[in-house]
Formats: sequence, structure tokens, C-alpha cells
Amino acid sequence: MAHPAYVYLNDSVVPWDDGKVHVASVGFKFGTGVFEGLRAYWNAEKEQMFVLHLAEHMHRLEYSQKFMRFDDILPGPDVGQRILELLRANEFRENVHIMSTVFVQGLGPPSTTGPIGLSILAAPRRDIPWTETGCTAHISSWQRVPDTAMPMRVKCNANYQNGRLATLQAQADGYDTAILLNSRGKVAEGPGMCLFMVRDGKAVTPPVTSDILESITRQTVMKLCGEYLGMEVVERDIDRSEFAAADEAFFCGTAWEVTPLVSVDRLPVGDGEVGPTVRGLQDVFFDIATGARDDHAEWRTPVYG
Ligand code: PMP
Repeated sequence: MAHPAYVYLNDSVVPWDDGKVHVASVGFKFGTGVFEGLRAYWNAEKEQMFVLHLAEHMHRLEYSQKFMRFDDILPGPDVGQRILELLRANEFRENVHIMSTVFVQGLGPPSTTGPIGLSILAAPRRDIPWTETGCTAHISSWQRVPDTAMPMRVKCNANYQNGRLATLQAQADGYDTAILLNSRGKVAEGPGMCLFMVRDGKAVTPPVTSDILESITRQTVMKLCGEYLGMEVVERDIDRSEFAAADEAFFCGTAWEVTPLVSVDRLPVGDGEVGPTVRGLQDVFFDIATGARDDHAEWRTPVYG
């Protein structure tokens, strides 16, 4: 399989083959790690690559480490610099997905809190097939893990088994992805992305106390709705029965960007076609992410020069 020349492990950029972690480490054995997925967008016209929301992701990475009670907290700005170093080492000139992970490299029982290791991977991104066509989802029979059991607002590796099971079930049942309800029976989010619906001219999304990740893209979409579409955003509980009454719905996240959702449980959302709000959001989102539009320069960190 083709792979980038370099990865980052602990203190340095290393060749791909040297990116190894011991099988006895607590991070490997119990999934004791926290991570951030980021995107960097290549702008051919400007001969520049931009990491989207680097500072915000690094801020959340610090919070995740703190909450998981790691011995040392790697400062976000430090990890951010290492991400840039790795991107430069690989000389990427295309869109990439980045995964930065802080994990317990020490040996011992699940309660081990150190020493801490750092890994960073960056690789050309896979295009999402549903950006244009929209995707289908069902309401999963897997419930979103409640904050009383595992904090879903922390990007802990172990949390991701919940979404993995939901995705696998959705695919086995013939859907593209899943929508998870929380323990109160209200809509939470997708396996790795947040959710909006457009109803009565407003963009509606579940509040951050719905057992969801406090998504950076969700926050961005909320701003874009107001600034560019003149649309009010409402944070409130969403019931599963509302999708059939909505005009549009879409997922959002670093990996999912802005992806239309055209049916839920095989009932069309609106007329089952990709709607004007999501198209408008996609236009402005990609223009800002790639730097095609100069607005919101504070969201983009240039990699080269
Ligand atoms: N929810 C979950 C469970 C996720 O894993 C992600 C991806 N990080 C998101 C939502 C979207 O978050 P963000 O916009 O910060 O990438």
C-alpha cells in the first residue's frame, strides 16, 4: 500500500517503517489515548497548504489529556508545530487528513497515567462519496454512550467503538451511516460527525449537552449560517420523528466536512434531494477551508513559506 514517507513519533519525524509502538503499552492494550483528526487543504493557485482550525484542535487535545489524567500534558501549540513539521517533511501538495494522538506509552494496568507518547500521521485524504449526492442514514439501535459512562466530548480513542458498531450495523442494514440517539432518546450525532436539520427556515442542532463531541466544524457551521446565509441557528433537542418534517439535513465534521443527509430510515428528508442551504454552506465552507476566499484567515494556518 502506498504510504507517506514519514510519520511523527514522540520527539521526531521518523521514516514510516519506524512508526512503531510496543504491544505492551497501555495505549495499545486498552486504547488509552486521545486524538485529534485535522484536515489540511492544498490551494494550487496560492501554492500553499492550510491546516484548518489548528489552534482549536490543539486546544481540545489539551483538554482531552487533562480529563484523561495523563501525567504530562503536551501543550497544544507544541503539537501544532510538530504537525506542521511532518507536513513539510512529506512535502504534501494535495489535501490531507491528519491524525495526532497522545497516548500512554508506559506499561501496566489500565489506570497507568504515563509516560506519554505522541504520534502524528498525515496522508492524502479520501474523498467522501456523498458530498455531492448526499448520504442515507438509519436511527441506530446502538445508543450514544452517556456522559455518566464515558465523556463523548473527550476525543478518547476508546469512545470510538460506540460509533464503529453503529457504522457496521448501518452498513449491514444497507444504509451509508447511522444516527445515534442519546440515553434520553433524543438525536445526538453520527458516528464521527455532528448533525443539523433545516426546519422552518432555521438551522437546528442538538446542544453540546446531548452526549456529543463539541465539534469544531459544528461551531464553524453555526457561524457560517449566520454570517453568510443569514440563517438563525437553534440549539435544541431533536426528536427522531422530525427528520421527515425537515426541509434539509446534513452532517458536519472534520472528516465529513459538510455532507447532505437525504433520507432517514428510508423516509426522504424534504424532497429527498440535496437542498439549497447545504449547497450554500458547502460553497462557503470549502472556499474558506482552501483559502479560495480570504475571509476568516484566523481559521487557516499556512504550512509552507
Ligand atoms: N462527533 C464525533 C463523535 C467525532 O468523532 C467528530 C470528529 N472529530 C465530530 C463529531 C466532528 O468534530 P470536529 O468538527 O471537531 O471534527
